[in-house]
Order: sequence, then structure tokens, then C-alpha cells
Amino acid sequence: MKIDVLTLFPEFLSNLSTWSIIGRAVDAKILTLDYINIRDYSRNKHKKVDDYSYGGGPGMVMTPQPIVDAINSVKEDNSWIIYLSPQGKRLDQNIVNRLSKKEHLILVCGHYEGIDNRVVEHYIDEEISIGDYVLTGGEIPAMVLIDSVSRLLPGVLTSEESFSEESHYKGLLEYPQYTRPYDYEGYKVPDLLLSGNHKEIEKWRHYQALKTTFLKRPDILENLELSKEDMEILETIKKELNK
Ligand code: SAM
Repeated sequence: MKIDVLTLFPEFLSNLSTWSIIGRAVDAKILTLDYINIRDYSRNKHKKVDDYSYGGGPGMVMTPQPIVDAINSVKEDNSWIIYLSPQGKRLDQNIVNRLSKKEHLILVCGHYEGIDNRVVEHYIDEEISIGDYVLTGGEIPAMVLIDSVSRLLPGVLTSEESFSEESHYKGLLEYPQYTRPYDYEGYKVPDLLLSGNHKEIEKWRHYQALKTTFLKRPDILENLELSKEDMEILETIKKELNK
């Protein structure tokens, strides 16, 4: 996959290319990351990239020309152009899974009061938000998107780091995990996990995944189609919790 990030602050993002698992994906050529400085495309003699908002109001709006020229400099037939925006669809694992199948993402990061709406209407394929709050720029949201998407690319995670059991991937939150020591200040790891009985461990983990989801994010369960067995497990969990 190739990801081009269009930003006024490329230096802010550039560490990503060498960072941990993303760095490994870049080294293995599974992922190509490039940062394009929108200001380099400004045709204004002072390299200006923003202007006052028509109609008045506080703050500056990013002008269309440098953004569109920057988009056109990297756009190919298979490009999917995303504007990181608090007005976009809220990023979730389903969106991440879908985006991980694209060949080329172009991420447009806004700043100040955002970008001229004609860019959004005519040059952007999709607006994505990382949550219902407003940040100063699209750079951190772009990082979130790059991180979440790139770890799904085939070959990026080793089998030990596999994402298929993780929270959200199959709909449920993940079961609780423990590591050494067995006894930490009197708090012990559930004994079953040390039993070596993989079938029972798998059953326990599935039960715990349902329980964790029920306790922490009941809204997720409301939107999931649960099997008959899972509905029964859920009833048991509810009874157990009522005790
Ligand atoms: N005036 C805009 C509005 O009210 O919708 C907000 C502009 S915000 C201060 C500046 C930039 O930060 C946006 O153009 C966008 O790229 C980015 N941004 C802010 N919050 C975001 C969020 N929750 N998700 C994604 N991008 C965000």
C-alpha cells in the first residue's frame, strides 16, 4: 500500500516511517509513506496557503489551489482521497478494514479553520473523523489512520502479534490478557490459563470476551448478530453478575 499525506507540517509526521511496526512495514516495502508539504504547491509569491473566511468570522481557511495541486501531484487511477475532518464518518474497525484493502490512500490534513469546502465537495472521496471533538490539525488523525490501517496489511504483524483476536476485529472486545509474574502483590492470574488445556482456555476466552464487551461496551452487543450459543452465554453472564 502507498499512503501520501498532504500536510503543512510534514516534519511532524516523518518519524512515523521509522517507528516500531510501521517502520518495519516500510522497511519490508509493504508500505510506502510519503509526506507532501501543501505549502510547496502554493502559487502565491509568499507561499500563502490560507485566507479569510468569506462572510466573516474568526480564523483562516486553507485555500483550494495548493491542496488541489498537491492532490494532483500524487493522484493515480487507484487513489482514494480522504480528508481528515471532525465532520467525517467516525473511524472504526470496519472502516479501517475496508481502507486496508485500498492500494493508494491520499490523506489531506487540514489546519486553522479547515479547508475551502469546494475541495471537500469536488476532490475528496471520503471524510473521516477520529472522534467527536476538534483538534488543531489533521496530522494526529492521519497518524491514527495510518497506524490502524498499516497493521492490517498482510505481512506486517508476525503471527504472535496477530490482530484477528483483538478487540473490534471480530466485533467483540478482546478477552483479558495476563503475563508474568503469576502472583503480583497477591493478585493472581486465573489458574485455567496455566492449565495447558487449550480447548478450555479458548472457551474461557470467548466467555470473557462476551463478558468484557457486555460490561464495557454494551452498545456493541446491541448491534451484533449473536449466535444462539452466545445468547445463552450472555444470559449466564447476566445471571452471574446479578449474584
Ligand atoms: N472548523 C472546523 C469545523 O468546525 O468542522 C474544524 C477545523 S479544525 C480546528 C482543523 C483541522 O483539524 C481540520 O481541518 C481537520 O483536518 C483536523 N481535525 C480536527 N478535528 C478532527 C477530528 N476529530 N478528526 C479528524 N480530523 C480533525
